[in-house]
Amino acid sequence: MNGLEKFYLTNLYTPENNRILAEISAVIQPRYMDVVQVFYKELLEDNAARQFLDSEQVETRLKGSLQQWLEEILSPKERHEMEQLVERQLQIGQVHARIDVPMPIVDNAMLMVKNGCFEILVESDMDREHLAEAIRLVNSILESSLSMINQAYMHDMVENERNAMSLRLNLSGQDIALEIERIRSDLFNWLSDNIFQVMSGKELPDDSLQRSEFGLWVNHKMDLITPKADISDKIKKRMEMLSSDIRHLSHSESDPVLRQKEICSQMSKATNEIGWLLSELANSLLANSSKEDSLTRLIERKHMAPVLQKETQMALATGNAYALIMCDIDHFKRINDIYGHTAGDLVLEQVAKTVRHSVRVSDYSFRYGGEEFLLVLPESSVEQAVEVAEQIREKVEKLVVELESQRSVNVSMSFGVAQFNGHPDYMRSLKNADMALYSAKHQGRNRVVTA
Ligand code: GH3
Ligand code: MG
Ligand code: MG
Repeated sequence: MNGLEKFYLTNLYTPENNRILAEISAVIQPRYMDVVQVFYKELLEDNAARQFLDSEQVETRLKGSLQQWLEEILSPKERHEMEQLVERQLQIGQVHARIDVPMPIVDNAMLMVKNGCFEILVESDMDREHLAEAIRLVNSILESSLSMINQAYMHDMVENERNAMSLRLNLSGQDIALEIERIRSDLFNWLSDNIFQVMSGKELPDDSLQRSEFGLWVNHKMDLITPKADISDKIKKRMEMLSSDIRHLSHSESDPVLRQKEICSQMSKATNEIGWLLSELANSLLANSSKEDSLTRLIERKHMAPVLQKETQMALATGNAYALIMCDIDHFKRINDIYGHTAGDLVLEQVAKTVRHSVRVSDYSFRYGGEEFLLVLPESSVEQAVEVAEQIREKVEKLVVELESQRSVNVSMSFGVAQFNGHPDYMRSLKNADMALYSAKHQGRNRVVTA
């Protein structure tokens, strides 16, 4: 981060300016909420902005923070408060990058805040000379704060984009091809299960394929891990086309038996075409794959941001929340101490494998820290996530890792489960999962605790 913005902002709080700020805050203090109200009213009238904010979020979460920020930044500050002030501005930028709200919206909103403050100052009974000074100061402070926020925001946005790209580069082509094979077989399982249902007269929901593991994978994961946008577009379109075919056929007046037949034939047609597209995708990946696997073969932590960002946006847009499972091997240090680091690696590798094989293909498994993993489960309830965690817990407990010279070792794992809590900043939900893990450890380990 370039130090210039920091220098400007922190040097604005001179003793002289602090005196003016004391006056300014006395005038604006009682009316901060007015400024905040205008700000969000305007913002919610903007179509682009509304996409990122709904009125409940604004009411319950954002208004208070904006008011606090204004109060903080427009009041006198001493030297020792500067670090914290700078830290807060950077955080605001980072939060906006995580929420993925476009910076022009923030810039625009800031203009309204500034105008609001100016109006209040002009309406006050400050004398003209003081007024000019006060306006200049408010302007400088808000501008330099915004430029810090902007810097932090840009930095994080660029980083997120880079990580989203390298998620594709980082997963080996082989791994993705294997994943595609797994999802392909799920697709065909969906077909056989549902042909049976339709033939026995059951109504098939038109979004049945979307709701299957295959559909979740397509909607939540395919774009982030596969490089071929043209093929993935075709897959999505074909899936939507099937939904609309099923919808039409279910409402048609034709003979029920004929209708069932027609639905089944559309289903297998679509499935075959998608299956073929998936093979093409997998083949193109295998053709240029050469990346070796890392120890755990889980996704690296740095790729978490683009994934959680996408999941958060989808959850806010559809109302289908995701669940998070944070898990950590119990007393892992002892394993290293007693059996050595190589044995530790072996245990880690096998636990990671157990984790990878226990989740749906459409879920994400990250290596969050040394022997700590984060699982992201799209469109899942807490109950479902607890069930998954419980299954992993049992498998890990039963796992016997064979070491050299006929020694073997057992481990256990603790889990914290949380659901996306509606806050556009995914860090909030992540913290909840982390806290749940912490209490699982405290309650004696080898257990699943819900936030
Ligand atoms: P707790 O039950 O509280 O989690 O106890 P713990 O001993 O597992 O404590 P903690 O999670 O803090 O320690 C993790 C240890 O895992 C620290 C580090 O030495 C070890 N570790 C982290 N990454 C690796 C790795 O890649 N290989 C090996 N062999 N050890 C690792
Ligand atoms: Mg541990
Ligand atoms: Mg740990």
